[in-house]
Amino acid sequence: MASVTFDHVGKKFGDFTALNDLNIQIQDKEFLVLVGPSGCGKTTALRCLAGLEEVTSGNVMIADQVVNDVPPKDRDIAMVFQSYALYPHMTVFDNMAFGLKLRKVPKDQIKKRVESAAEVLGIEALLKRRPRELSGGQRQRVAVGRAIVREPKVFLFDEPLSNLDAKLRVQTRAEISKLHLNLQTTFIYVTHDQTEAMTMASRIAVMNKGILQQLDTPQTLYDKPANLFVAGFIGSPAMNFFPATLRKDGSDLLVDSGEFSVKIPEDRTTTYMPYAGKQVIFGIRPEDIHNPLFVPAGIHSSMIDAKVDVTELMGNEIFLYLVSGKNNFVARVDPRTRFTIGSKVQVAFNMDNFHIFDPSVDPDNP
Ligand code: ATP
Repeated sequence: MASVTFDHVGKKFGDFTALNDLNIQIQDKEFLVLVGPSGCGKTTALRCLAGLEEVTSGNVMIADQVVNDVPPKDRDIAMVFQSYALYPHMTVFDNMAFGLKLRKVPKDQIKKRVESAAEVLGIEALLKRRPRELSGGQRQRVAVGRAIVREPKVFLFDEPLSNLDAKLRVQTRAEISKLHLNLQTTFIYVTHDQTEAMTMASRIAVMNKGILQQLDTPQTLYDKPANLFVAGFIGSPAMNFFPATLRKDGSDLLVDSGEFSVKIPEDRTTTYMPYAGKQVIFGIRPEDIHNPLFVPAGIHSSMIDAKVDVTELMGNEIFLYLVSGKNNFVARVDPRTRFTIGSKVQVAFNMDNFHIFDPSVDPDNP
């Protein structure tokens, strides 16, 4: 069993709090991604787990054992770094074998384990080369290979794809997912890239300023973000936000932004009625704003007047950057209509898929 637990973990560097009461339970064989903006504490969390940093408070547990005082080499985990950290003077074989040699694993076993990892990663032909004779993607595989040969209980990845070009990153992303399926081991993966998190994770922990914001499956994070921070961080282009007031109009409830007013469908009125008269943030994802000619059948929609600011043709869709009064927002619309910059348009908000946030809830201090 290789479950991992952060139990009320705090980490301070002097007066600075890098991790604030972090609680995460990672199940055996899970692929957990820690995601958040630069400086949110995700690498610190990983380093505390690896034993490269001491926790200031709380417990780090691996397979239900508290490991706070266990040295890194005895934690039975392997870490793949962003820099790959390969030894330049050693061949690929020796780089992969190094950790095993230190542990005095018999030579024939080392050979078997290195060759088998090389086969899994498709780098058998590179074993005699030195790191300088490899491409970035090949180096990345060697770094992963070095982790695999150790047969650890838990794999830790710290932004392992950030030095690869966009195409290779997409390809390697899929390979790491496949590797996880094959190895059936716990993976904990740190990235600032929400697309990487969404595509690979079985669950995602979203962090901001040392605080865990939400821990959920990718789909739940996307559909039901717990707060404004998560809503704005997960999804690309990001969710649109409009400061608004919820206004009662007879038995109807309206979202009034000052520029536009849209009706909340009856089946959701009861949920939001307690907020009537209050300031809220109205959130809607770009894919829930439609070209009025191509509104999906059967949805509650509301038309909004806007002006076209910028258009980006993506092939299968257009990112339409729009302005309505003080508000800028973006829609992902059907590409069969072309839009002229500066022209006035109407777009349809899908009112079956909107979000309401309380602006007074501070995600840094939930
Ligand atoms: P990035 O994506 O940029 O790597 P991160 O989310 O991984 O960011 P961390 O590296 O965990 O962030 O750092 C969290 C905070 O702790 C940052 O503000 C950083 O400056 C601070 N920090 C990290 N290590 C130390 C250290 N050894 N001494 C002082 N402050 C540190």
